[in-house]
Amino acid sequence: MREIETEYLIVGSGAMGMAFADTLLSETDADMVMVDRHAKPGGHWNVAYPFVRLHQPSAFFGVASRELSRFEKDKVGFNKGLFDLASGAEVNAYYDDVMQQTLLPSGRVRYFPMSDFKGDGVFTSITGGQETKVRYKKLVDATRLTVDVPSEHTPAFTIAEGVDFMPLNDLPTLKHTPRGYVVIGGGKTGMDACLWLLQTGVEPDAIRWIMPRDAWMLPREFAQNSDEFFADTFGNQANQLAALAAAENVDDMFARLEEADCIRRLDKAVRPTMFHAATVSQPELDALRRIKNIIRMGRVSALEVDKIVLDGGEIETGPDIVHVDCSASLSRTMPQMTPKPVFEGDVITPQTVRSFMPVFSGSMIAYVEAHYDDADEKNRLCNVVPLPNAAEDFVPMTLAAMMNSYNWTQDKPLRQWIRGNRLDGFTKLTHNIDPDDAEKMDILMRIRDKAPDAVGNLMKLSETLNATA
Ligand SMILES: Cc1cc2nc3c(=O)[nH]c(=O)nc-3n(C[C@H](O)[C@H](O)[C@H](O)COP(=O)(O)OP(=O)(O)OC[C@H]3O[C@@H](n4cnc5c(N)ncnc54)[C@H](O)[C@@H]3O)c2cc1C
Repeated sequence: MREIETEYLIVGSGAMGMAFADTLLSETDADMVMVDRHAKPGGHWNVAYPFVRLHQPSAFFGVASRELSRFEKDKVGFNKGLFDLASGAEVNAYYDDVMQQTLLPSGRVRYFPMSDFKGDGVFTSITGGQETKVRYKKLVDATRLTVDVPSEHTPAFTIAEGVDFMPLNDLPTLKHTPRGYVVIGGGKTGMDACLWLLQTGVEPDAIRWIMPRDAWMLPREFAQNSDEFFADTFGNQANQLAALAAAENVDDMFARLEEADCIRRLDKAVRPTMFHAATVSQPELDALRRIKNIIRMGRVSALEVDKIVLDGGEIETGPDIVHVDCSASLSRTMPQMTPKPVFEGDVITPQTVRSFMPVFSGSMIAYVEAHYDDADEKNRLCNVVPLPNAAEDFVPMTLAAMMNSYNWTQDKPLRQWIRGNRLDGFTKLTHNIDPDDAEKMDILMRIRDKAPDAVGNLMKLSETLNATA
């Protein structure tokens, strides 16, 4: 077995591993080895569906050292008027550039694609078969948030022979017009499949959408990190804090958040029970609402030639119906996502330390690794923000994220570094505001005034949830 040595063995060159490596490169002079099963960096983006795009602006995705956004607002389509969302192809090309132009030329990163990490520092080349033992100081397990994608997952239901079934990756390969479509899955992937079908000319009535759980969604209009959207983005944050501070219980919290347009749902008559932080624009939501055949009968257990069997009963189908698999779900990978300390002995496990911002989190964890020694302090600064699954998970997630933000503001060098990090996206916009700018000052004051009450109330709501769990 070949043996090599490094300071940091990073397993996973997805979004998290790349954000971590990039910041570790700029903040230290450490040597790194990166190992991944994929042929290229970018993790799940290598196998994403062809019409995938980021859900949030490119301006705060990727790695800290390299821009991804064109800083152009979309002129047409569902994202019209909002900042660019990189396509899957752009994201893949970007990560390739980061590897080829930044990480590898540094001479401090060795990259082993097509390599399966087996544990105990050993990885095997998938193509050549040879084994390599890495002697390392720290192991960075950047596989914890590994995404279950439609093209690679095994559905949790049976599919009879003769049923036309495909992951949404294959939709663009259709050669004839089927009688109709059944989209299986109510998450963001299901939404993307429905939107693509509508955009390519499918009538809404030709789509049946199986939705085991309805989701709360986040409005993309208020996740725009440019000065011209200051009032929208930060005004919405102030409204969110006011809603959180005033909520009498969890139901009331969702009602207030919806009233303030901080969260959205497909159908106002249906109470969502899921929250995976899917981000949508209002035009996307309007388009999705044109689909009236929503099947809310639980999960699919079997696709048969003439019917679909669900937890709550059966629906008739028939020949020439395309069943689109969008059932790869975050909840199926949740057990491996149970938070664990980021820093534990010689293992670093990057996870989210700010809600909805995995790549900022990867970068932040590398910064803390580079500049702090005490493990307790490192874990205090990088307290894991649990990924949400059920709707009420919004409460512990938001509370943990707000506590982290507060802790970070108490540390001046860290505060300054965050402000300068492109992956943070927003903090720089609140810096050096002209005190005479009454509108911006008013928004910032509202945020400052309401934040402590919001945290206090989230603690109470969290206790209620724990008591009823
Ligand atoms: C459709 C979609 C849109 C998204 N849009 C956004 C967005 O707009 N903004 C945003 O911030 N986030 C977005 N995300 C989330 C983000 O892209 C990443 O999914 C998230 O950061 C998790 O990345 P990761 O690196 O942890 O996981 P992955 O991308 O799954 O990478 C993990 C890597 O680890 C490798 N690996 C695992 N086990 C082993 C092993 N034993 N040996 C070798 N290699 C191994 C895998 O091959 C993989 O490459 C989106 C996700 C999806 C699915």
